[in-house]
Amino acid sequence: MPKTTCLLAVVLALSLSGRAGQTSSPAVTEAEAIYADLADSYGVISTIDSGLFSTYQGKDRVAWERVYNQKRKQAADKLSKISVSGLSALDARALEVMNRHLRNDFPEQFRDENAPPEHCQDAQRQNLSMTSLEGALSACFTELGNNLEFEGKHVTRVSALGMLEEISEEPRRKKLFYAFTPLWDAVNGKDGAASPYRRLLPLVVSAAGGHGTSIDSAARTIGVSSREVESWLEQILDAWRQVDGGEMVEPWNYFYRGGEATRALSAVTPKDSFVSVNQRYYRDLGADLQQLGVLYDLEARPGKAPLAYTDYVTRGRLVDGKWRPTVVRISGSYATGGLGLLNELVHENGHAVHMMAIHVRPAFMDVSAALFDEAFADVPAWNTYEPAWQRKYLGQAAPEAASLRGLLSSVMLDVAWALFECRILHTPTADPNAMWTDITSRYLHIVQHPEISWWAIRGQLVQMPGYMVNYGLGSVLTADLRQHTREELGPFEAGNPQWYSWTGDHLLHFGEEMDTAALLKQFLGRPVSPQALLDQIQRIAPRK
Ligand SMILES: [Zn+2]
Repeated sequence: MPKTTCLLAVVLALSLSGRAGQTSSPAVTEAEAIYADLADSYGVISTIDSGLFSTYQGKDRVAWERVYNQKRKQAADKLSKISVSGLSALDARALEVMNRHLRNDFPEQFRDENAPPEHCQDAQRQNLSMTSLEGALSACFTELGNNLEFEGKHVTRVSALGMLEEISEEPRRKKLFYAFTPLWDAVNGKDGAASPYRRLLPLVVSAAGGHGTSIDSAARTIGVSSREVESWLEQILDAWRQVDGGEMVEPWNYFYRGGEATRALSAVTPKDSFVSVNQRYYRDLGADLQQLGVLYDLEARPGKAPLAYTDYVTRGRLVDGKWRPTVVRISGSYATGGLGLLNELVHENGHAVHMMAIHVRPAFMDVSAALFDEAFADVPAWNTYEPAWQRKYLGQAAPEAASLRGLLSSVMLDVAWALFECRILHTPTADPNAMWTDITSRYLHIVQHPEISWWAIRGQLVQMPGYMVNYGLGSVLTADLRQHTREELGPFEAGNPQWYSWTGDHLLHFGEEMDTAALLKQFLGRPVSPQALLDQIQRIAPRK
């Protein structure tokens, strides 16, 4: 259980009992208990499907799916009978949140987006639904992306991206880069209008309908318009364009150019050290991962989800008046070491401690917005590129400029993908290769290769089109949250024992109880601003 201060305990007592004297409607409370069981059965089935365990509390998958179906029916039934009129504001919010998740995340027939039933080959069929096409294209990342052929061996996409930072001979880097070709072809064919990806885009736009795309909801999360999001992304990329030196680089060399720190630290970042480094670092931040009971599944194996993620097994709740803590699990495929992958695991643990810190009634036991979720996970993770962190946890540090360039090279790619998705979801008939080439040559000084779909190296682009904004724009929020944390709490680059309890009290424990835009404004004491990230970018400018 997270270490909580007295203030947090008081807030909890209030929110768990329906807050400040308000009592929950019995109908809402009843629906909420069923909803909690539904969410837990979903978490257990996804965990079984991930391969982490095969039974839970003595029940196998078939039994858990039976629980899921039953709870899903009961929850839908109960919720549909509750009228919002006469409910307290908090109950009304609980009702809205539960109905939304029932619609979007707990389908009548269980379906786990990290383990879709489709195969990559299915993406070639012309008449697929959006969900099936997304599932088929995600499967391409498992089947092809996790099986890149290089020098007679099979490497995963994640390992290949790490190797591109480390391989010293350019011809080998080029060969490894082109090993992605089967994946690119499966996703975007020859870039024709009927390619699977280009067929997916209009489906995503029409499904977004009235409530908007991921980009609109990211914009709402930080209280700006989608137009403003696009102009912030352009402003950030333009700042980078001006300081990065201006030398054109081939795409297979981009990662190597940003990889100096990774190379300098490769001897002290073996994969076997990842978990213990994370444990030491988070303990120094006031979050004991072992005590929190975070479950790890980090070995690469065939058929494993192609991207790292963190998810609930079961969510914390009151059982007979006692808090039963949340259980979370982290899935990743670490076949190789390296600073970039270590950073990824620190990021996943950032998700884990966020989820563990949420401590509210069942309806609100989830992270409140994807943008905030991704941005927060990078608050602790960006420290892996700080010399003070490297000295303390790796025993040696890369030159500061190299580390900063390493971090920002990858952040800028995220910003570029975010801008790519903003633009392509605006004009879904546009040519994705041309659009990507335009963005990366103009802002990142990457040599034009419109003949290849090399943008398709991130699974999120096909699994949840629009999601990359949560990383690209998320970096704005990460930089802002980090700056505010330093101002309030002092440095935390190499640990700070107050960090977890303070962050828990002020930012994390609310879950979905509070609107994220309001929460962020309350935390920062002002609206979110891109200035902190722009300041970080200026750190790599040559000193005048
Ligand atoms: Zn994440």
